[in-house]
Amino acid sequence: MRLFLASGNPNKAAELQAMADALGGAGAGGRLEVVSAAKAGGMPPVDEDTGTFAGNARKKALALKGALPEGAWSLADDSGLCVEALGGAPGVESAYYAGRAGDPAANLAKLVASMRGVPEGRRGAEFVCVLYLAGPGGQEQSFEGRCRGRLVEDPRGAGGFGYDPLFAPEGLDLTLAQLPRQEKNALSHRSRAFALLVGWLAARG
Ligand code: IMP
Repeated sequence: MRLFLASGNPNKAAELQAMADALGGAGAGGRLEVVSAAKAGGMPPVDEDTGTFAGNARKKALALKGALPEGAWSLADDSGLCVEALGGAPGVESAYYAGRAGDPAANLAKLVASMRGVPEGRRGAEFVCVLYLAGPGGQEQSFEGRCRGRLVEDPRGAGGFGYDPLFAPEGLDLTLAQLPRQEKNALSHRSRAFALLVGWLAARG
């Protein structure tokens, strides 16, 4: 089964495909293929202005669905990092925390600066991911995954993307960027949402 991904972020496509491959086709009626929107004429422009992960994910999934051939499935991912000491910021604005340029290095630097001096006990944070499927016959379904942890003082590690170098998942001293990809994928917000999605597809037969 082929899912067209409503995102221009190659990191998300790669992570989702790795998760699908790790399942080896189990549970979802054969191999899942995550294909970037670029291969289907590109992602139509979408204003991510609903203020929620689920609302933005739905908007992206439906925008791409409208541009796909009849019968195709579109999949959107809206995700971000919610930091308790910052009242949930950057949250749905995670991609643009340091400005509309959407520069991941600048976003990370801004978060490091915002958290400078915040004591250990107040560095809790949570990654949230909503995956949204839009399919034939007006089918729509959303799946949410969360990953709790804390922010370290200074970025560590070269793996992953975005805020990974600053985020240590609960129970670990390593950041997501220091973990091998399979280990990040075993516990991440995205993999938790993806497991729900695969279960839902499998239950449909
Ligand atoms: P979106 O494309 O609007 O969903 O933006 C998601 C943003 O959240 C990304 O640009 C990253 O800054 C951040 N983000 C989401 N998932 C992850 C992750 O798994 N690791 C690190 N940063 C992430």
